[in-house]
Amino acid sequence: HNKATADTSIYLLNEDIIKQKLRYSTIENMLRKAIEQDGFEMVYQPIYHVKDQQFLSSEALVRLKDNTTVGFVSPEEFIPIAENKGLIMELGEIVFTKVCAFTQEQKLPDRGIEYIEVNLSGIQCVHPDLPSQLHQIMKKYAIAPGFINLEITETAFVESGEMLQENMLKLRQMGCSFSMDDFGTGYSNLSRMAEVVYDLVKLDKSLIWPCFNSEMSAETNKANAILENIIKLLQQLNVNIVAEGVETEAMANYLNDRGVTHLQGYYYSKPINEGDYLDFLTTATLNRVIS
Ligand code: C2E
Ligand code: MG
Ligand code: MG
Ligand code: MG
Repeated sequence: HNKATADTSIYLLNEDIIKQKLRYSTIENMLRKAIEQDGFEMVYQPIYHVKDQQFLSSEALVRLKDNTTVGFVSPEEFIPIAENKGLIMELGEIVFTKVCAFTQEQKLPDRGIEYIEVNLSGIQCVHPDLPSQLHQIMKKYAIAPGFINLEITETAFVESGEMLQENMLKLRQMGCSFSMDDFGTGYSNLSRMAEVVYDLVKLDKSLIWPCFNSEMSAETNKANAILENIIKLLQQLNVNIVAEGVETEAMANYLNDRGVTHLQGYYYSKPINEGDYLDFLTTATLNRVIS
């Protein structure tokens, strides 16, 4: 009967693969439709600046408006599909256009916002058209490049060579700044940390959360040692640190005590739509102070 069990599991595996393929191609179709028919929207997650005790920046995150066809599809799922299907440059153009249009329409720089972080996928980063694409959009909406901070993942930094450097140099000369995103989840190729230039490093939540397990264990202690020393290392490299996934007051206080300068997470705000973000900026939370 061993054989029967094995056969059944192969059958189930096939069914899963078929389901997965179907979902994948459905999402691909949703993406194509969304590109044609304005099917994306941006949400914004405020970032708390510890020194100024204010929300002076935020991260723009893309969403598919269609939440019915296959349920909620996170960018974690659809960005790789867009990359594999050759749609990411078009999607990136839509994202950047939406951010710049919103910035201009709502005069974000006049509301005390210093910059918006926009995510770039690894493929966008090494595309020769990227600098001119972004330049044209900023020009169209009269956005000062200093208002734009481009997030590039640690993995993209490490994997990409000359083209990335060339694109970054051009964009930096225009005035854009850069964040190294998802720090701690890639190859953590520390030797490259000295070679590339970035203004902010974003600590991934996977570095932070294990330090706050309810039970103190040897693992929690190790996670603490790693986080504390990564913070020290980055401080010695003279970069500003953004902590991602700050969900509790305990996390906020811990990071604040260790001199992390920027905090982002559900404790402060989830990513919110444009209208709610504008409300957020005008309410008392603007001056939230960590006790
Ligand atoms: P990311 O750039 O590292 O973004 C942070 C993710 O963590 C976001 O998920 C955000 O909603 C989530 N997050 C923030 N604070 C907390 C928290 O306190 N708790 C928890 N559980 N989650 C938190 P999201 O929006 O689903 O985005 C996932 C990833 O998709 C992003 O990771 C980024 O890599 C990619 N992405 C999102 N928008 C874009 C975009 O416009 N362009 C590109 N190329 N990639 C994007
Ligand atoms: Mg990001
Ligand atoms: Mg991140
Ligand atoms: Mg991430």
